[in-house]
Amino acid sequence: MFSIKMRASKDDNGRSVHISGAEKIISEKQLDSCVNSLMERGLYHPKGNADFMNIKIERVKGDELEYLDALPVTTVEVKDRQEGHREIVRFLEEIAVPEPQKVLAVLKDTYAMRGAMLLDVNTLERLEPDGNRGIRATYMDQERSENVDLKLEKNHYEEAIVLATKVANCPGIVGEICISDDPDYVTGYVASKKTGYRRITKMKELGSENGGRIFLYNGKKEDVEKTIDYLQKKRVIVKGVKPLVTIQSAKLSDNQPVPDLNESSLSAINCERKNPMTVIENTLSDLKEKHLFRTMKSIESAQGSHILMNGKEYLLMASNSYLDITKHPHMLERCRAAIDKYGVGSGGSRLTTGNMDLHEELENKIAGFKGTEASIVFNTGYVANLAVISAIMKNGGVIFSDELNHASIIDGCRLSKAGCVVYKHNDMEDLERKIAENPCEFGLVVSDAVFSMDGDILKLPRFLEICRRNNLLSMIDEAHATGVIGATGHGISEHFHMSEKPDIMMGTLSKAIGGEGGYVAGSRLLIDYLRNTARGFIFSTSLSAVSVAADIAGIEIIEKEPELVQRLQHNVRYFCKKLQESGLNISSETAIIPVVIGDEKKAMDISEKLMEEGFFISAIRYPTVAKGSARLRVALMASHTEDELERAARLIAGMLEK
Ligand SMILES: *Cc1c(COP(=O)(O)O)cnc(C)c1O
Repeated sequence: MFSIKMRASKDDNGRSVHISGAEKIISEKQLDSCVNSLMERGLYHPKGNADFMNIKIERVKGDELEYLDALPVTTVEVKDRQEGHREIVRFLEEIAVPEPQKVLAVLKDTYAMRGAMLLDVNTLERLEPDGNRGIRATYMDQERSENVDLKLEKNHYEEAIVLATKVANCPGIVGEICISDDPDYVTGYVASKKTGYRRITKMKELGSENGGRIFLYNGKKEDVEKTIDYLQKKRVIVKGVKPLVTIQSAKLSDNQPVPDLNESSLSAINCERKNPMTVIENTLSDLKEKHLFRTMKSIESAQGSHILMNGKEYLLMASNSYLDITKHPHMLERCRAAIDKYGVGSGGSRLTTGNMDLHEELENKIAGFKGTEASIVFNTGYVANLAVISAIMKNGGVIFSDELNHASIIDGCRLSKAGCVVYKHNDMEDLERKIAENPCEFGLVVSDAVFSMDGDILKLPRFLEICRRNNLLSMIDEAHATGVIGATGHGISEHFHMSEKPDIMMGTLSKAIGGEGGYVAGSRLLIDYLRNTARGFIFSTSLSAVSVAADIAGIEIIEKEPELVQRLQHNVRYFCKKLQESGLNISSETAIIPVVIGDEKKAMDISEKLMEEGFFISAIRYPTVAKGSARLRVALMASHTEDELERAARLIAGMLEK
């Protein structure tokens, strides 16, 4: 093992100002990544860029290392500082300190010190050799798995547990009192082996920089050296440090990024543990009360325009299988051949044993179809978005995201280290404004190409022009565009007759293409990067040969039979015309045709009535779409007949009139 310490400072008119510091105890394997991440943290700190940095690495021999169990954590909610101080006194009584009030009174003498005061609880004598500096406990870290990525973001809470655990286990020390000097942070703690780590939610007034630390000593005078030696030199690893769990007070809508857990939100912790099953049950009954509880329908046939459910036939106008090729003879033939040759189950991730020649054939096929240098396949479109966005934005930056982007894009943003700025739906002026308002060194703009609930198309030419001019990466999600728009189904670039392409062209193989999986098409550089960094690619077993064969066949069918795409596009025009003839002002250029109803319950009722008539058309409601914009989401297939479309249009129009 190695101990590693970093201190960074900057020069302020000849004066050296501390900006950041950290220490770790890690394995040799992690040394390289640890040095890098500490260097980065020190160099580019929010408080300023470092002018001077010291990184000290020392080998720790196995027998020098002491392992300790983390102190258990409790929280005491107090309403004001006075009550907080009463809790400190109560703690001092519990650990049998003779004169608690007098100990509390010397707390103010620690305010200007950088380290802690070492106080003899019997004589109230200060024992630290340097009274201005105090004593700093160092050489400690929490236990980490060797095999996971080192996560070295600063976590004040976890660092505090580690420190308190070392101090509480130090010979001669009976307890510790700590108040932060951060003016925004009023929660402090008291700790001892006897009481554990006890957070007290208010120890000082907000805005006050009066913080300090006392180590409480109860031992012989001649043993003080040993105590100080342990605090300053003993190498300690603390096991079982658990992250703090917060209960979020504000409900976040799906389109807002989740705020990070920061220091000031720590005071909102609720440590009264509830029965987890009761929490789960209450959530479910809440959903039921709001008519948001989901159930599933079970289909007993292939995904085609006509399906069987409970033995009854329905006309399916809700599926994403837009070209209706899941039972196309070429598809079945390709899949059967793949089963015969490869069996099922790929047995490993692409980077280990799960990479078959078929996977590479598919990726070449996709790159050819999309007109890019290369492509990479993920197990689903959902994973593709998570993996790609989090990999591209893993070092921070800003993501600009359309407010109606798919949930998988939103989740990808949440998983990344970047800030997320949401702009108005398909509003290029707002996008430009948001870019100007949020300067960043590195940024990504991401949008659905065809929006999954509204069926409208991204204004790609403006979008690309804005990205290019602002030097931002561009990314589109063609889940509902590939195989649907463009004269021969090649997607949004073909639709706009553009040769310029977005940097990152993501899509799914599970919709028009009729198989399963997600892909990203782009430059060789981008794809190499993703293969090396996208965790959703690296840590997941690859698609089985059957799925891959279906994907290849799906693309081949589109290439060989573009008339399927044209049939779908004809159906869209025909269906919209029939709706308009029935008095509904609805239009769409994609296979998704939203019939907005508004009221959640009315939308559900109409969908149910359509079902009774043998038409399977989904009602979509909050939280998938905004509250009060519930709708029927009609999804067309190339195989729907004019007669079927005309009947559906008339039926919908009739139900809306009532
Ligand atoms: C369906 C969809 C996805 C997810 O793709 P899957 O292959 O179903 O996981 C991603 N983005 C959009 C816009 C989608 O509609």
